Amino acid sequence: MAFDVEKIRQDFPILHQTINNHPLVYLDNAATTQKPIQVIEAVAGFYKKKNANIHRGVHYLSNLSTDLYEQARRSVQHFINARHDYEIIFTRGTTESINLVAFTFAEAFISQGDEIIITEMDHHANIVPWQQIALSKGAKLKIVPITDDYQLDFDTYTRLFTEKTKIVALPHISNSLGTINPIKKFIDFAHKHDVPVLIDAAQSVQHEKIDVQDLDCEFLAFSGHKIYAETGIGVLYGKEEWLDKLPPYQFGGDMIENVTFEKTTFQKLPLKFEAGTTNYVGAISLKAAIDYLTGIGLEEIEKYEKSLLNYAIDQISQIDGITVYATREDNKTSVLSFNIHGAHNYDVGMILDQMGIAVRTGKHCTHPLMQRLKIPGTVRASFALYNTTDEIDRFIKAVKKAKQMLI
Ligand code: PMP
Repeated sequence: MAFDVEKIRQDFPILHQTINNHPLVYLDNAATTQKPIQVIEAVAGFYKKKNANIHRGVHYLSNLSTDLYEQARRSVQHFINARHDYEIIFTRGTTESINLVAFTFAEAFISQGDEIIITEMDHHANIVPWQQIALSKGAKLKIVPITDDYQLDFDTYTRLFTEKTKIVALPHISNSLGTINPIKKFIDFAHKHDVPVLIDAAQSVQHEKIDVQDLDCEFLAFSGHKIYAETGIGVLYGKEEWLDKLPPYQFGGDMIENVTFEKTTFQKLPLKFEAGTTNYVGAISLKAAIDYLTGIGLEEIEKYEKSLLNYAIDQISQIDGITVYATREDNKTSVLSFNIHGAHNYDVGMILDQMGIAVRTGKHCTHPLMQRLKIPGTVRASFALYNTTDEIDRFIKAVKKAKQMLI
């Protein structure tokens, strides 16, 4: 089926409005995506006719709700090609998924003097949990640097390993630069040292097909809200053998098997990691979003979004006095990070907003990366499957105007 962006746009009610007297151009998709009517209706329909708490009831609605929740789990399993549905843990989002792994992994496997490898282009969500672990355990963070063309430096990575290396955690796609990291190569190398790998896929599952069996990563995390589903739902994928080895993260509710005041036993996977009442409606919204994306086809989406990005890079490169970060087009996707020389990113963002264009400005939760680039931040336009070249034209026009006003 040909990719029909106008038809897709009809599915997103929020796009059809004016902001500051201009038609909305929403280019803040790396922060969160808008929701198609199919997701909105799945949630509304659930609350109108199907809602009850999962896993605890004998009654009809509770069973229905539980079935839909477990269907959502299988839908995620197939979406990322996990071997088993119980390798899919529902969390609040990428941040919680990474915290879950960091704190339980540390409890089981990290002691004084051990080493954890992360990267210079990580989001704070994949820096700070490991940094806190390092502080409390007396472990050491080792950082993969980036090269001057905004790639992870693989050679240095290979030299960071010692017999003390316990885990590697790295982003698939950088939220600030759009760089697609060759994670399979990184995972394969870590495995040569018997070191497990966590992939932060917050910026990748919505843009390209992920196959966790092919990647062979031990853990992978992503957020529902960046993939057209609700906020407050996310996924932690973990290989069964690794999830089995980790202790529970939180205690209470659904993760309990039996309690006495002397001793508590816990559920097996996946409930072992799903304490309390989970965001089961969020999970149902995630299934609706996955159905929506797979209905269009991830490959089609990837191709279309890359063409949008290349178009935007071509256009912006024709304006003098602009630095675009991560200009190698072959391995980057959906993020255009730039600065107008002599203008602060915040001022550019404000002017764009006046013209109805939503972009993000600042450090994008990647302070160490901005320190490495020696900049206070960037203006970030990030694309989704509903953006058009016409919108990019309007964005470029607004950037020219901002430059005129500020310089
Ligand atoms: N990692 C990356 C690469 C991200 O872009 C984000 C969100 N900006 C996160 C982690 C955190 O995601 P969330 O806030 O949904 O937990």
